[in-house]
Amino acid sequence: MAGVYRQSLMSLQENTQNALIIGIIISSSNPRVFEMESPHRSGTRGVWTFTLRDSENDTINVTVWGSVQYVNNLAKMFQIGSVVDVINPKVIARKIGDKNEIFVPTVSSPYSLTVNENAALIQEHEYSDRSDYEELLRLPIRNISNLRCLSSIMENLEALLNQFVDIVLVVTFIGECRTIRTKDGRTLITRDFEATDGSYTQDTVAFKLWDNDWVQRSENWEPKNTVILLTDAQIIFDKYKKKTSLMIVRKTLITENPNVPQTTEVRKSIKPDSEYMPHDPYVIPKNDCITNIMTIMEITEKVNQKPSGTNDRVQFMTLLYAQITEMNLENNDVVVTRCALCKRIIIKGDDSCRNLECPCGNGRRDPENIKTIYLRINLKDKTGYLVGCRLTGAPAELALGCDAEEFGAMTLGERDIMKAKFFLKQFDIKLQVLGPSQTFPRALYNILSMNPCNENYSENNFFDGEPFDY
Ligand SMILES: [Zn+2]
Repeated sequence: MAGVYRQSLMSLQENTQNALIIGIIISSSNPRVFEMESPHRSGTRGVWTFTLRDSENDTINVTVWGSVQYVNNLAKMFQIGSVVDVINPKVIARKIGDKNEIFVPTVSSPYSLTVNENAALIQEHEYSDRSDYEELLRLPIRNISNLRCLSSIMENLEALLNQFVDIVLVVTFIGECRTIRTKDGRTLITRDFEATDGSYTQDTVAFKLWDNDWVQRSENWEPKNTVILLTDAQIIFDKYKKKTSLMIVRKTLITENPNVPQTTEVRKSIKPDSEYMPHDPYVIPKNDCITNIMTIMEITEKVNQKPSGTNDRVQFMTLLYAQITEMNLENNDVVVTRCALCKRIIIKGDDSCRNLECPCGNGRRDPENIKTIYLRINLKDKTGYLVGCRLTGAPAELALGCDAEEFGAMTLGERDIMKAKFFLKQFDIKLQVLGPSQTFPRALYNILSMNPCNENYSENNFFDGEPFDY
């Protein structure tokens, strides 16, 4: 490469020209879009920030500016764990008290890098020293001698308000990722998870991941095994949950299975027999985490138990092998219209939700409604019946093989043909079971996924070719 020369982060100087910096991306935020209104550059611009590391001690924040497409493409192409060459960035001294620093990880370098479309370049680093950089992904970015334990944080939340802490936790629960609409109309993908270090009597703490890279990477996390180091997690007032909690914020850096002795230690805090259910009953676990098999009788017995611990309702997930005895495919109300923002059902004849807290409901935005399939299904196995299970949203579309619009357009004849594919057939069903609570006196059975059973498997293991014994 003519004219560029390789620089380590440590040797960078302000305004260095033609620098080539090699490092591994250790943190990446979602790209954002800005409306620029300066005389030089008006219109829509994209911006993406990530954190680059090239040695045990050296880290720097990089900001990429350009057209929305350019920025989105780069953010898709280079993710946490990518080793990249950053060529000819602007090297700018960080300013003390810069308010933007709240939104980026704490780094060692006194500089930051700016990559402007057409003036600088990011490309994959293709040389054999890649693995040297890859090892850096599992090292803490700074000395972790000040680690806190969960109990010392959770028992002093008010005193620690707004402070940042470092903590090592083992993941206990991983939710399915969720698509949410923000009030300004953006679509975000998030994932809930829970973790513990064994020190806290209430056991686990719930977190939410907002950044695409972490939502994706956490797909591979394993409950009771994956350990995370949170550097600069913040104790903050959560305005949605209306309480103070420990949160992953934009400054927080996550290190997966860090290469430190605490990783092995914290894994030992897991109780092997514990089920570690999520605190929020509406959080759905990642599908492949549901592996325990129950019969309908076992489900019924468990639903009728008293809730334990701090929960006010029994809740669990299970895999069930069962036969579909009823499915209301032919009903007119199978496709419901919901508000895209607040998800409330739109009453027939209305053009928006009636939720005054929702921008679509209170008239600040044009209504945006979506159609959802909402099915009721009855199941049976050798041990009993389960009546009124719900199959809705994405799991329903997956099971039926069509979306709500396509389903709504089907004739009764077409629906009959579809029904034949399900009626009295065996399925392996992932089920979320919520026992009755004080505010809701009936148990709920949500179908999270439904797949036809392998013929041999179902016959040999569940039905034996004999009639049911009820
Ligand atoms: Zn609404």
